[in-house]
Amino acid sequence: MIMEAETKKWIEKHIDKVVDKFRYGKLKVSDPEWCPCFKNDKCHAIGLADMNCFLCYCPHYENDKEEGGCKINNEKGGWHLSDKLTTGRIWDCSGCDWPHKEENIKKVLRKVYSIDGEN
Ligand code: SF4
Ligand code: SF4
Repeated sequence: MIMEAETKKWIEKHIDKVVDKFRYGKLKVSDPEWCPCFKNDKCHAIGLADMNCFLCYCPHYENDKEEGGCKINNEKGGWHLSDKLTTGRIWDCSGCDWPHKEENIKKVLRKVYSIDGEN
């Protein structure tokens, strides 16, 4: 419990620095082996000047269904249809910037650590 409280305090104090470290442009230089996309270009073109990689995998993705899905029905995602898939469709997030926006990353972190009443 003490450890949890200490971690929470640390996150509260350093949240801007933590998130900043994961900016695509910075991480690409500080840790070039982190992701194969650092050798060429971003994983998907979403129009953000400097997308953030902290939430590489979106917490809203529906993992329990074979065809995936978006738990918040974000309209920037959509179904990719294909006869080659057993489900006939799969949820495609390539047009969505939600997990790469810093305000959303901070929201997730605050929720995880119950900071500022986000729980
Ligand atoms: S979000 Fe993930 S896959 Fe995309 S560039 Fe960043 S680390 Fe790589
Ligand atoms: S990336 Fe966007 S569309 Fe995909 S699960 Fe997350 S919020 Fe939904």
